[in-house]
Amino acid sequence: MKQIAFIGLGNMGAPMALNLLKAGHALKVFDLSEKALKQAAEAGASVAASARDAVTGTDCVITMLPASAHVEKLYLGDDLLAGVRADALVIDCSTIAPESARRVAAAAQARGIAMIDAPVSGGTGGAAAGTLTFIVGGAAESLERARPLLEKMGKNIFHAGDAGAGQVAKICNNMLLGVLMAGTAEALALGVANGLDVKVLSDIISKSSGRNWATELYNPWPGVMPNVPASKGYEGGFGVDLMLKDLGLAAEAALAVRAATPLGELARNLYAMHSAQGNGGLDFSSILGLVRRG
Ligand code: NAD
Repeated sequence: MKQIAFIGLGNMGAPMALNLLKAGHALKVFDLSEKALKQAAEAGASVAASARDAVTGTDCVITMLPASAHVEKLYLGDDLLAGVRADALVIDCSTIAPESARRVAAAAQARGIAMIDAPVSGGTGGAAAGTLTFIVGGAAESLERARPLLEKMGKNIFHAGDAGAGQVAKICNNMLLGVLMAGTAEALALGVANGLDVKVLSDIISKSSGRNWATELYNPWPGVMPNVPASKGYEGGFGVDLMLKDLGLAAEAALAVRAATPLGELARNLYAMHSAQGNGGLDFSSILGLVRRG
């Protein structure tokens, strides 16, 4: 790929773009945040004046935006696809509703443009280390075109199925993550309230049957692990409101097929309460605050 447009340089997009730059790709970037653009420019990206400017003439377009509304507004509302070359490849890495992903992919297809949904897992640490998991929906040949780029940002690449299937798999994963983080916070708070040292308890759980991604890599208790959001005032990372969005997507997916997701629904309510208390912008591991005493 000669030239790549990268739109959305937030907690995830910025480190992903950096890995593409490090791999020698030329990047034209756009974000609504001046600060994000300045940092990308310092890292060697060329800054575009608008999303349309970013995609003009590029071989590949990558977007990493917060939610369905942002993706639909950009690609459909603002008609970004009109500025994309017909032989370019479009990769949306945002986590959005499968239906939104299908709508945008169909609009791209109507213009003869190949597009895949490629939401990611692995957090900001995985984005920085280039070890993300990509969960792809769309044509197999489009995934093969994208693979060399995805390999610069991730370690595991899965083909979940047709357009939107990447989002379905990602939503299932994040529903489980929301449940696991809330459960991990609850277990740690219970142990500490009963007199245990949180580091000792965390070590025990991470070598026992309750271990999970949170206990191994993303402990929600401040000071247990260095360099995780919990130890940095819950700054950065994966926002409570983004987790709430994903649990809402899981609830919609469940309603559509009349699936029972009692724990996912409980987790959605816990994150909604936590967000309503003013914590929407904090990292999602701050859910500990709901159950921690003192
Ligand atoms: P973020 O809020 O940190 O970043 C989003 C960026 O998009 C911001 O910089 C914002 O200015 C920019 N933006 C919004 N609208 C725009 C527009 N119209 N044009 C250009 N830029 C625009 O979010 P994030 O944490 O980077 O997450 C991005 C996506 O990845 C979300 O869908 C999220 O659910 C998903 N995700 C996040 C994580 C994580 O750990 N943070 C992990 C996996 C997946």
